[in-house]
Amino acid sequence: MANRFPPSMKPTTHFTSLKREVFGRVTQCRIGHCFSGEYYNRFVPSENVNCPCGEELQTREHILRTCPRYEDHRHLLRSVSRDISLPEILGTKDGIAALAKFLEESGAFTKTGTPRRPQETPSFEDEPDPVDSDDESDDGG
Ligand SMILES: [Zn+2]
Repeated sequence: MANRFPPSMKPTTHFTSLKREVFGRVTQCRIGHCFSGEYYNRFVPSENVNCPCGEELQTREHILRTCPRYEDHRHLLRSVSRDISLPEILGTKDGIAALAKFLEESGAFTKTGTPRRPQETPSFEDEPDPVDSDDESDDGG
């Protein structure tokens, strides 16, 4: 249902405009190869297939449409498709743009399902104190 664009030699709009990590998740989500119980159920039997919210099988549709963990961000999807129709979300230009925003802000379909923390620049104050070597270097007594 995600494959609704005619073949093209040009990269898609969302390919050129999204952060690489988000683009990766958009693509994984569209083709179904995403971090979800549904996927683990088929390909990674060692992983849990249930959703942290209590749903027995965490499907892509569950995450996008009904999981309470993402209710706060679901308006992003509803703005292009009132009933969050997956063919619309996964297979139209507006749908994919909304999906990208939803994934970026909610952290859905990352390994933990929560937003990645922005990496903080280390500051000088966080550096360990330099070892004071003067006291121990004197072996002459
Ligand atoms: Zn859930």
